[in-house]
Amino acid sequence: MTDRYSRQQLFKQIGSNGQKKIKNKHVLIVGAGALGSAGAEAFVRAGIGKLTIIDRDYVEWSNLQRQQLYNEADAEHQIPKAIAAEKHLKQINSEVEIEALVMEARSDNLGNLLSGVDVIIDGTDNFDIRFILNDLSHKYSIPWIYGSCVGSYGAVYTIIPGRTPCLHCILKEVPPGGATCDTAGIISPAVQIVSAYQVAEAFKILVDDFSMLRNTFLLFDVWSNQHHSIKLTKMKKEGCLTCGTMRTYPYLSYENQMKTEVLCGRNTVQIRPSRSIGYSFDQLEKRLCAHGKVARNPYLLSCQLQNYRLVIFRDGRVFIHGTNNIQLAKSLYHRLLG
Ligand SMILES: [Zn+2]
Repeated sequence: MTDRYSRQQLFKQIGSNGQKKIKNKHVLIVGAGALGSAGAEAFVRAGIGKLTIIDRDYVEWSNLQRQQLYNEADAEHQIPKAIAAEKHLKQINSEVEIEALVMEARSDNLGNLLSGVDVIIDGTDNFDIRFILNDLSHKYSIPWIYGSCVGSYGAVYTIIPGRTPCLHCILKEVPPGGATCDTAGIISPAVQIVSAYQVAEAFKILVDDFSMLRNTFLLFDVWSNQHHSIKLTKMKKEGCLTCGTMRTYPYLSYENQMKTEVLCGRNTVQIRPSRSIGYSFDQLEKRLCAHGKVARNPYLLSCQLQNYRLVIFRDGRVFIHGTNNIQLAKSLYHRLLG
């Protein structure tokens, strides 16, 4: 095990001192999809001290093409991504402390996870949560690294509180992607490139080599061979509510009362009760088996109805697959779960 990190230490910008720093650092990855699983594997192989990874979803067959931590058994058994990730990451490097949480990232629960975190990696798929990450990053002075990809396109940007313009400062300047994974699909090289840049930037932060950070917003299309690196330094805004002099962290004070959400590209509605519900899966199975075929594992229970499928997590969250209609989903929810 002694030469486990030897090749990384031979790289002089890291060296043995950098390796010691990496071993004492803590990375938080929000989202364990394609970007999250690629990043997690890289940090764990590199010998990060602690990795926290959170995700609300479970592994499906359509994930396996690009979400490198998961396998057919995970999809077969609908294992939550955080749980499957933890299992596979521990097999890769047993020296790393891994905290895996099956939960939805929200403004009211992410703050509790930030103690001791050195860098936050964006593995999310939407701007609602990215603005929350952006506010938290500045409130707690923790760098975060934005990443997104769709089709053959990707974008990466490193945000250092107090130094760079934040997401809130630059959003209007960011060229719109205009597409989602739903409409444009996604190929794995786009994921790998975004993740590689995120991890490289994180390494620089973890070994305190801040002068080498990219300092540009990077955009590429790996299919049409386009590559743009945009300087944003002058876009830092004095009046920005996240990073300016009169900051209010607007995305943290906003209480999200929405209990329903259409999941991008999934033909699925998520319903989140306002309080946590500790379901008894035994009772639930008895109740639901009259309506359709029930399957379960320790983390979730699913019920296949004629045209829809319900997936119920222990904390009370429910996915209703087969519709994007919130009202229809709510009526099914109330009809079957009270
Ligand atoms: Zn800002």
